[in-house]
Order: sequence, then C-alpha cells, then structure tokens
Amino acid sequence: MTDTTALNKQAFVHVALDLPLDQLFTYRLPEALVGRVPVGARVEVPFGHGNRSMVGYAVDFSETCDYKQVKVVRTQIDEQPLIAPDLLNLARWMSRYYVAPLGQVLNAILPAAVKNQAGFKTVRLVVRGDTAEDQVQRILSKQRRVLDRLDTLENPVGPEELARMAGCTTAVIRGLEKKGLVKIISQRTEEFARDFNVRLTDVEPPPELSAEQAVVLEKIDQLLESASFGCILVNGVTGSGKTEVYLRAIEQATANGGQAIVLVPEIALTPQTIRRFRERFDDVAVLHSHLADVDRHREWRDICEGRARVIVGARSAVFAPARDLKLIVIDEEHETSFKQDTAPRYQARDMALMRAHLLGIPIILGSATPSLETKHNCLSLDHYTETRLTERVLNRPMPPVEIIDLKNTLRERKGYHSLSLVLENGIRETLQRQEQVILFLNRRGFSTHVFCPSCGFVQKCDHCDVSMTFHRSENIVRCHYCDTNIAPPQQCPACSTAGMNYFGLGTERLEDEVHKKFPMARLGRMDSDTMRKRGSHDAVLTEFRDRKIDILIGTQMIAKGLDFPNVTLVGVINADVSMNLPDFRSAERTFQLISQVSGRAGRGSKQGRILVQTFTPEHEAVRFAAAHDYEAFASGELKHRRQFGYPPFVRLARVVVRGEDEDKVRDLSTKLADVLRQAAREIEPGPVILLGPVPCPISRINRQFRYQMLIKAPQARSMIQLFDNVRGQLITSPPELNIAVDIDPVSTL
Ligand code: ADP
Ligand code: ZN
Repeated sequence: MTDTTALNKQAFVHVALDLPLDQLFTYRLPEALVGRVPVGARVEVPFGHGNRSMVGYAVDFSETCDYKQVKVVRTQIDEQPLIAPDLLNLARWMSRYYVAPLGQVLNAILPAAVKNQAGFKTVRLVVRGDTAEDQVQRILSKQRRVLDRLDTLENPVGPEELARMAGCTTAVIRGLEKKGLVKIISQRTEEFARDFNVRLTDVEPPPELSAEQAVVLEKIDQLLESASFGCILVNGVTGSGKTEVYLRAIEQATANGGQAIVLVPEIALTPQTIRRFRERFDDVAVLHSHLADVDRHREWRDICEGRARVIVGARSAVFAPARDLKLIVIDEEHETSFKQDTAPRYQARDMALMRAHLLGIPIILGSATPSLETKHNCLSLDHYTETRLTERVLNRPMPPVEIIDLKNTLRERKGYHSLSLVLENGIRETLQRQEQVILFLNRRGFSTHVFCPSCGFVQKCDHCDVSMTFHRSENIVRCHYCDTNIAPPQQCPACSTAGMNYFGLGTERLEDEVHKKFPMARLGRMDSDTMRKRGSHDAVLTEFRDRKIDILIGTQMIAKGLDFPNVTLVGVINADVSMNLPDFRSAERTFQLISQVSGRAGRGSKQGRILVQTFTPEHEAVRFAAAHDYEAFASGELKHRRQFGYPPFVRLARVVVRGEDEDKVRDLSTKLADVLRQAAREIEPGPVILLGPVPCPISRINRQFRYQMLIKAPQARSMIQLFDNVRGQLITSPPELNIAVDIDPVSTL
C-alpha cells in the first residue's frame, strides 16, 4: 500500500484512542477542519466495523497516508488543546516506560470532569444567517413573523423557545435555516460562578527560619536561580519544619509569576494542610479525590488559565495543566500511595521528576524517611542533593520511643490483652493529665482469623486466597480483598464441629478492649470501615482536635501528617504486622511506619512518648526507628538490597496474568515468560533476569487466578529496551485473561 495521494497539507490526523491496542489510528480530516485542529485537542471518529463513535486525542498530523481506505473525522470536540505540548511529551514517555497505550495514558492524565466539561452546558441559539433577505425569492408570512420576533430579541434564544414566541413550529425555523436567513449556533455557557478563595485573615506571621532551615533554603534558592533541572531532597525528622521550607521555596519560585505544584499523599490532604497553603498564598488550587466534578473542572481551568499559582493535590495533581511551572514539591516522597495501582501504573514522584526534567525546573522531595531509591540517587547522581533537618523546630525534643517485647506481655497476666501493662498504664496517666492518645493498628475488623480448633480449618474467601475477617458490629465475616460477606459460621464448614474460634486482632476488637479498660474515655476509630461515608474523615479529626475524643484508634490513615499538640502518647499495638509480609520492602515499610507514627506525638510544647509493641524487638527496622536513626537504617538496608539484588540496585518489573481459568492463566504466563526470556538475551547492559512464572503470593483474588513473573534489569535503560521489544504482546490480552505490567512495583504480593 504505497498509494500516497498527497491531499491538502496535514490532511491526516493520528488519533490516540483509549483501547488496549498499541498504536495510533489515522483519519482524514474533512476539508473544513484541515489546519484547524490543534495537537492535544479531542476529535470524534468512527471506529470498527460498526463505525461506532469514539473520542480520541489528535496527537500528530501528516500530509500523506499509506492506507487507501481512510475513515474521516466526524467532529472536532475542543477548539483549544486539552493537553499542552509538555504534558503530551510526558504522556508519550509514560506510555513507553509503563508499557501502556498512549490513549489510555492521556485519559488517565485528564480528569473525567474536564472531559465531560462538568459545569458547562452547550445551548443552541438562533441568530440571523449570512444570507440577506433580498437575496431570497420568497419569505412566507410565518417565516416573516419569526424573523421579526428574532430581531426584537435582546438575547438570542433556542429554536424551540423562538418558535413558541412566534407561535409556530420549529419546522418554520428549519425552513429559514435552509434559506440561510437564520442559523443555529452552539454556545457553551459556564454554569459555575468563580469564587476564588480569599486570602485568610487571622493568619499568623511566618516564623523565623531556624539555622538548619536557612541552609536548606539557601540550596534551594541556588537551584531556583539556575532555573534548571535538579532535585533537592529535604531529609528532615518529623516536625522539623519541612513544610515551612516548601512554603518559602514556593514564594521564591512564583515571586515573578509562574506556578508551583505540591504533591502530598491523599490522606495528608486535610483541611489543616490546605489551610497552611491558603494562609500564605491567595491563589491556591486544590485537587483531591473527593472534589465534586464541577469543582474539579473549575480548579483545572483556574490552573490552566494561570489564575491559580499554587496547586496542592494528591497523586494525579502531578498532571495539573500548569502552563508556567517553575517548581514541583513532593512531600512524604516515600509514600506508596503515589503509585497508581491500575493501568497506567505510574509513580507520581517519578513522573514529577520526569516532568521537571523535561521542563528544566527544580524539584524538591521531602520526607522524614526518604525512600531508599531517593537516598541511593542522592548518593550516586549529580543532579540530586541531599539536605538535612536533624532537629525539631524550637528545640522541641524528639519523643523517646520505648520498645515493648510482646513475648513478655503474654506472661504478665491471665487472658488475652492487646495492651501491655506499660501501655495500659501510659494511657491511664495520659488521660489523667487530660492529654490525648493515638493507638495505631494496621488491621481492621474484629478478629483477623476465624478457625476451627478441632481440625484447624481457617475460613477463607471463596473467591480469594486470603483468610476472612470477623466484623462484630455488623456480625459478618468479610473478605478484605473483594468485600464478599458471609454470616459467621456456627460450625466448622470442614469437620462440622460446633464452635469456631476467633483470633487475630483488628481495630474493632482493640476499640472494644480499650473501652472495657477505660470506660470513661471517649473513643474514636478511623479505619476504612468507619470512614466509608464522605466527610467522616474530617469529622473525626475535628472532634479529636476539639478534644471531644480522648483516644483515637486507627489504621495507617492516622499515621501520616496529623498534627495535634495535645497528643502526648502514641501506642503502636503491633509493629510486626507490616514486617511479616513476604515482600522485600517490608523492613523499610516497618521503619517508615514507626517513624511516621512517632512523629504524631509531642508536636506541641508538651513532651511526647511513644510505645511500640512488637514480638521482634531486635529487628533493625524497630531498633533504628526507635533511635530515630534513619541513616543507620538506610545504610544497613541498602547493603541488604545490594547483596540480594533488589531495588534500588536493580530495576524491577512485574507481569501478572490473571483469569478465572487457571490452566489458561498458567499457559499464557509460560508463553509470555518465554517471549520475555528470549527478548532479555539481547538487552545491553545485561543481564536481564526473569523469575517465574509462579502463582502470586496471594494466588487468587475475586475468583481470578494470578500468576506472576518478576524481571530484574541492571538499569532503567535495559528495562525500557526489553519492553519496547515485547509491548505489542503485553498490551493486548487474549479473551478472558488479563495481563498487567507493573514497572517499579511497590508490592509483589
Ligand atoms: P514538618 O513538615 O517537617 O513535619 P512543619 O513545617 O509542619 O514540619 O513544622 C512543624 C511546626 O513547626 C508547624 O506548626 C510550623 O508552623 C512550625 N515551624 C516551622 N518552622 C518553624 C520555625 N522556624 N520556627 C518556629 N516554628 C516553626
Ligand atoms: Zn474475596
């Protein structure tokens, strides 16, 4: 097919569609649209045998086309591009790196609210046409009436309304339209009123920077002045004033115009956090997952059109359409929630680094427990600089962390107690001083296991390879992976013995025990069971802040970012929960968790205290977190990672095949493993190693069997090359099966 009949200039458009196909689709532009569709705008095109309409992004143009039978674009949807060139570049890069079709990536970058133009509606209006009345042979009297009525209108109306006014049917208006005497135009109207957040009034003046903060800011200023790409890690203990440093940096970066993006984990995006930015800047846009569509669209447009200077948001805010970006800040850069767990499986921190790199602007990463990837980059790459904030502001001490060996607790007294005596006494004393307590346990529900004491049967989900959790308040047994519920079994489903046992501690049971031990204390619980309703998160935190709650019990939801000056005791009920996961990052997660949780105490002027209960007090993650010694933990853990060939010393990718038919899943996995192994041989620099296929540690979820392959490559470059060569076979899954490619996975479960 080499018939390249050159039509008009740029008569062909290449469209990215959100389909599991690794290609662009070529269409001819109707004459009226040639030269009018900008790159990044959407067009509606016919697709497939039925020629159903699909919406895609115009990403490229050409003068010629190799195909004989090219379909024609139906309509142009956007006058202005929805995706600016720099984001389109980033999207192309993402598409390659994360092995995802460009159309899928673009759809992920653009919020649905923007695609649907939420808050906008299109109205049809009748106006005078291009033909003058004397050019027309005959005007019917009904038509005359319509024209006269039209001429008296101050504001145009739609055809139905005009017909009603003139006392005729819309057919008369159609007749006028045919003669060219009127035309019907579409007009978009903005329904939402702009209500830019006014600068808050009762604002405290910014504090004097500490000496350490000043040094960090100096480094950032140098980089900002150079106006080039570079990454500064602010490695600062909790409460050391990192946020204050970001605020100053943003002030500098946007002093002469320009915009800045700040990414924070979704759960840290509390009213309190947002307020800190609004106090300092009067044009802050906020992007989080609870926004109503209209609000999200408005924020997006304020960013796009430059009215918002500072953008604070969760993961997807990395794609905020800022056109004049000068700085990106990522707080809590180690957080795994920056990784998206559905395709395209991007890591927002890494995308931010790439965006900053492509734009040639600085980026700041902040954390009390930097990821080992970032730490390693600082040690090995020129563009990375590590800065330290080693002390809390105003000479506040780091709270002492005491480790409690749970093995001893078992001998302390009769019966089962999830609180050791030390912790129990600690709570009592704290309550007596009218201060507040946070208790942290990363497992929800009442009992995490339901089992038969006679035959050892453990109640598992019918659809997933996981044990089910008893929820007492609802009196159900629930799967935390697929949400299936069953009634608590009265007898063992396997051996029919009556009386199942319940063990394993969840937040619901902890609440029960705490209530029995401290009946006078007011309790609050925060986990995804109690937080199902929108707004409940903020409600509980407000009550806690107002001291209407004495003891707050919760899962990881309460580990991050909370700042309550009256909290002086934090208890970690079981530090081993995250340590026992079969994942190479489990020690890092445990270290992060204990450090973050301990950051919640003693943030005000009162001294705080942390009690960590664990069965493995000798573990490095526990010991170093208790000693607030990130450096020691990082250097030890980096040694392990190097020795065992894990990130950051290799790049990791994971390919998961799932489906309901285990044989098909196994067969496809085996076939893909062969393809990948074959391709891996030719990659430089090597060796690129493939492990598997094997069933995933959680071998079945939601009725689907899961098999995985792990790929280790010495460099990102090698990994990209490998997937360049095989992406066609990974993007399109065979029927009834699903292939998921996860580059730089955060979990291998
Ligand atoms: P981090 O982000 O490291 O946890 P923050 O920036 O939230 O720390 O600072 C903790 C608290 O200390 C905040 O209430 C902040 O306003 C205050 N703070 C920050 N820097 C200073 C400073 N130089 N002097 C006094 N207070 C400060
Ligand atoms: Zn399940």
